[in-house]
Amino acid sequence: MIVGILGGGQLARMLALAGVPLGIETVVVDPSPSPCAALVARHVAAPYDDAEALDRLSGLCDVVTCDFENVPAAALERVARTTRVYPGARSLAVLQDRLTEKTCFSELGIPTPRFHPATSPGELRDAIESIGMPCVVKSRRFGYDGKGQAVIDRLEDVDRADELLAASSVIVESFIPFEHEVALVAARSTSGEHVYYPLVESHHVDGILRWVVPIDAPELQQQAEQYAGRLLDELGHVGALGFEFFRTSDGLLANEAAPRVHNTGHWTIEGAATSQFENHLRAIAGLPLGNTATTGFAGNVNFIGSVPDPADVLAVEGAHHHDYGKEPRPGRKVGHATVVTKDVESRDAGLVRLRELAEAALR
Ligand code: AMP
Repeated sequence: MIVGILGGGQLARMLALAGVPLGIETVVVDPSPSPCAALVARHVAAPYDDAEALDRLSGLCDVVTCDFENVPAAALERVARTTRVYPGARSLAVLQDRLTEKTCFSELGIPTPRFHPATSPGELRDAIESIGMPCVVKSRRFGYDGKGQAVIDRLEDVDRADELLAASSVIVESFIPFEHEVALVAARSTSGEHVYYPLVESHHVDGILRWVVPIDAPELQQQAEQYAGRLLDELGHVGALGFEFFRTSDGLLANEAAPRVHNTGHWTIEGAATSQFENHLRAIAGLPLGNTATTGFAGNVNFIGSVPDPADVLAVEGAHHHDYGKEPRPGRKVGHATVVTKDVESRDAGLVRLRELAEAALR
């Protein structure tokens, strides 16, 4: 089987690697001359609106997927004329836009921070007044890693949100003083089967995910799975999906969902019986989904800006090193390390050391 991937970043690279034992070959389309997936997948260097490249991809592949959610809808429509595409247009259309996304959550009875849309400076001020301060103003589209958003806690700061409005419509959300953030990775197959990984506590700095650790919280797990299950079925989603929540004293509030493999699930490569990458491929290939049970006590640290010396990373008991082969650059995710051990104490000690190494390499 040949799987096409729109986007050739680290997610595509880890998908391609997961495909090898399954006999799945991968072809990525990415405008960059040497995207990081090109080391392990065939690469078609072309922009996402290049009709010839898209037709070549659908001619070559049995099924096409993507490694980022902001793939232009027209590109997917073109590929879908002749090839199966998962996730489908509905998953992407709903989850690409923070307003349709949060509206969908609310309609499904999934609690969210209070939100209000705005398309003009007048509406923005009205929305801020109705939500109250502090609040978070977010671009409806193309925001990631905290980009395209501003926290407003004084009226004098509204100018900063006006800048966001100039670029795109926005939503205003109430600022949630959460205990911490949690995320759930789920997958749904073509036959509607669901699997869920353990919920993780996820720690961000400046909007960028720094580290995650799976938690054992049966009630929260059940709540998150119920919410994710409703969303997967409503979207008719096929493939993996990452769902991010704020944990508050009143339970979970949904922040956002991404219709793809997710950074909060990288630990599953070594820390779960079947990785999120393998389960995504199994789902889109029409294969049965795999067991998501943990293989030990796991945790995961992102490398932002530059990758530490692998000798230091691998000196940590139970550590696995992942270097995405990307040029160092401030704020860029360039690798990660996962630690898996047989006891919680050594996992926690490993995470502390990996976080020190990540901090020293931070740019
Ligand atoms: P997002 O791009 O929506 O995932 O936001 C990036 C990060 O900003 C989140 O992981 C949170 O740490 C923070 N954040 C986003 N929305 C809110 C909110 N309504 N209240 C508090 N913090 C938020």
